[in-house]
Amino acid sequence: MSGLVFYHRQNTHPAFNVLQNAIHINGEHQVSREFNEFLIDAYVLADSLTSRVIAIDFDNTITADIDFYLDLIDAYRNQEWEPVVCTLRDAMADNLNEIHEKLHDSGIRIYTTDGKRKRAFMLHQGISVGLWIDDYFPGISQCGTSFLLNNGIDY
Ligand SMILES: [Mg+2]
Repeated sequence: MSGLVFYHRQNTHPAFNVLQNAIHINGEHQVSREFNEFLIDAYVLADSLTSRVIAIDFDNTITADIDFYLDLIDAYRNQEWEPVVCTLRDAMADNLNEIHEKLHDSGIRIYTTDGKRKRAFMLHQGISVGLWIDDYFPGISQCGTSFLLNNGIDY
């Protein structure tokens, strides 16, 4: 497998260090500050500075390197962060079973938005997210929001 490129612009978010360290240990992946949709595999977007929740997408994010994400989930848990899965999929049992199976039933919390934009969906559940890791940023927030602008995405 060739390495994944993680886009991240805001080096100030404390949750980013854990990912950066996991990338360093893994040795195959890299971080880019350059917004280039053709090169980027996953967007790492800073949100709340006080939340401990790390929202990780499933399709084409976790599935792009499941072993790496299993290690990353452990690393976050070891440092008292709360990694969760947040997917645009719906809550059909097949979806939940597949995700739990691929993650070896690591007991991770799964949020299914059924196609709704993730950031608004999570806020509606009363959950602010600290860091998002996702291959598809328009699924998190609509373009032009300060959230995306703050992450260097003026689209
Ligand atoms: Mg995805």
